[in-house]
Amino acid sequence: MKIQKHVYDVVIIGAGGAGLNAAQVASQYVNTAVVAKVYPTRSHTISAQGGIAASLGNEEPDNWHWHMFDTVKGGDYLGDQDACEYLCRLAPEMIVELEHIGMPFNRTKEGKIAQRPFGGHTSNYGEKSVRRACYVADRTGHAMLQTLFEKSVAQGTQFYSEFYALELINTDGVVNGVLCFDMKDGSLHLFHAKAVIMATGGSGRVYMTNANAHINTGNGVAMSLRAGFTWSDPEFFQFHPTGIYGHGNLITEAVRGEGGYLLNGNGERFMERYAPTIKDLAPRDIVSRCMAQEILEGRGAGANKDHIKLKIDHIGAAAIMEKLPGIHELAHIFAGVDCTKEPIPVVPTSHYQNGGIATNYLGSVITGGNGVYDTVVPGFYAAGECAASVHGANRLGTNSLLDLVVFGRTVGERAAKYAKENKLVDMKADAGKTGLALLNKFANANGKHTFNEIYTKMATTMQANVGVFRKGENIEKAIKELKEAQEMMNDFRVTDKSSVYNLDLIEALEMEDMLLVSRMIAESALARKESRGSHYRDDYPDRDDKDGQKHTQAFLEADGSVRLDYRPVRTKPLTVETFPPKKRVY
Ligand SMILES: Cc1cc2nc3c(=O)[nH]c(=O)nc-3n(C[C@H](O)[C@H](O)[C@H](O)COP(=O)(O)OP(=O)(O)OC[C@H]3O[C@@H](n4cnc5c(N)ncnc54)[C@H](O)[C@@H]3O)c2cc1C
Repeated sequence: MKIQKHVYDVVIIGAGGAGLNAAQVASQYVNTAVVAKVYPTRSHTISAQGGIAASLGNEEPDNWHWHMFDTVKGGDYLGDQDACEYLCRLAPEMIVELEHIGMPFNRTKEGKIAQRPFGGHTSNYGEKSVRRACYVADRTGHAMLQTLFEKSVAQGTQFYSEFYALELINTDGVVNGVLCFDMKDGSLHLFHAKAVIMATGGSGRVYMTNANAHINTGNGVAMSLRAGFTWSDPEFFQFHPTGIYGHGNLITEAVRGEGGYLLNGNGERFMERYAPTIKDLAPRDIVSRCMAQEILEGRGAGANKDHIKLKIDHIGAAAIMEKLPGIHELAHIFAGVDCTKEPIPVVPTSHYQNGGIATNYLGSVITGGNGVYDTVVPGFYAAGECAASVHGANRLGTNSLLDLVVFGRTVGERAAKYAKENKLVDMKADAGKTGLALLNKFANANGKHTFNEIYTKMATTMQANVGVFRKGENIEKAIKELKEAQEMMNDFRVTDKSSVYNLDLIEALEMEDMLLVSRMIAESALARKESRGSHYRDDYPDRDDKDGQKHTQAFLEADGSVRLDYRPVRTKPLTVETFPPKKRVY
């Protein structure tokens, strides 16, 4: 089939908050295109609810040192501290920038940007909860994505929507393109670029109960692995405490920030027992484990004692309708409850991929081995949920939207600069071969196994064996089942043979990637013999402070197996006086 060629300075894969912020910045300097498998405003960022962190100090004293301390501690000391510092220091100016390009933040009575508390965000190095999250009711991601989309359109970004990226082109160590197919008519497109930014979001769909969009299938990480790059810390997958029971849809932590709290089946506010200071606003990994513990020990709610209740009615119907209208609607539709009168039934739900493609603090993808792990890959950048360095073993709520804009802007600027200073590198002769092979494998698949069958096998075993609580023998069981599922992909059936919106084919490609992602998560989880952040091993319940503070680096070998290596955590902040923190307020 004929392949259409396109040439740009910068090509961005993904149109969520990270991709769009990179786009609106890069487009100011160079010719920029965005490819995305959905229309940009359908990216998962649209569903972010509770807020975006920044130590503006609009409601009470705050500063970036406290924010950085919380981010490093919340990540259980696995976040790269130069990146944590960069994130927290830039946060206040990013909020002002977003506000200037049109993001309609909620306001205080005096007209300043309003802020609410969120889990793990404290003042004075853990002393008490602090109001740090800026928000637009409970539709912060919606407001952000629309604002950034408008801005990138205004800057002249070229959009290729409903283009599915199949292969990241690595030409002898330089990343210079991506092969896509247009879902609308099945045509193939090879984008040739001086720089490529990966911004494809997360992979939460690999778990049965999850709060993610259907498109969050880990394609960006899978593409990068196939192109020879690393996935840093796959085993750290965040479970959000409050997914709607039976569905998994997210009930934002802002509900607890606004005064909501959790009750077990006996009507007890159990978080007071586990985290007496910050109670229901402890970091997500802790709250999720406490909830699971309550249920396991027979103190769950409902006839089957299998969930927890989230009470919010006491803050009053007017406050709920003003600050949490979307939650009111979700609770009504999915749980059938009116949360102005009764509690919402919740369980922990898979939420966020803490790890990602390894980057330095400026968003350049890094690779290496044999003791050297920070070799910058020319022309390749990553930002947002598909990238790693800042959240360590567990991300704090509202730090992701911040990550999207901080690192989105950084990679947008740096990719544009790189494109201006460098020539277009010729594509390797067999560019697109891997992507085409994948496409052909499934376009002609007439076997017996279906998406539903394989997806259920994978998501069930991930949920049961590589979820909130993990144990060696269970993870081994999951790896065995995942290998079987990968084998089943060789006997797959794609019923639809058309080239127009062939969602059967898309599902097959996504399934292949989800299995790769799951294998990586499970194998890394088996190898990490300690408990840290979102990775909790029943058989190794303690954090290993001697050997555990290192990043897992997962590679895909040519025979399909997983190779694990480790890279030291960057513990040196950008300025020496900032960490360990001294008491100082701006
Ligand atoms: C329900 C929910 C609520 C949340 N609330 C908050 C919150 O209040 N605060 C906070 O900080 N964080 C929150 N988060 C987390 C945060 O929203 C996400 O981590 C973040 O939005 C991810 O943004 P992104 O730009 O990395 O990717 P996404 O927004 O997920 O976008 C990914 C893009 O990549 C594209 N893509 C993927 N694969 C391909 C492919 N093969 N080819 C072409 N394109 C592809 C998609 O089309 C999409 O455009 C929430 C997450 C969820 C799920």
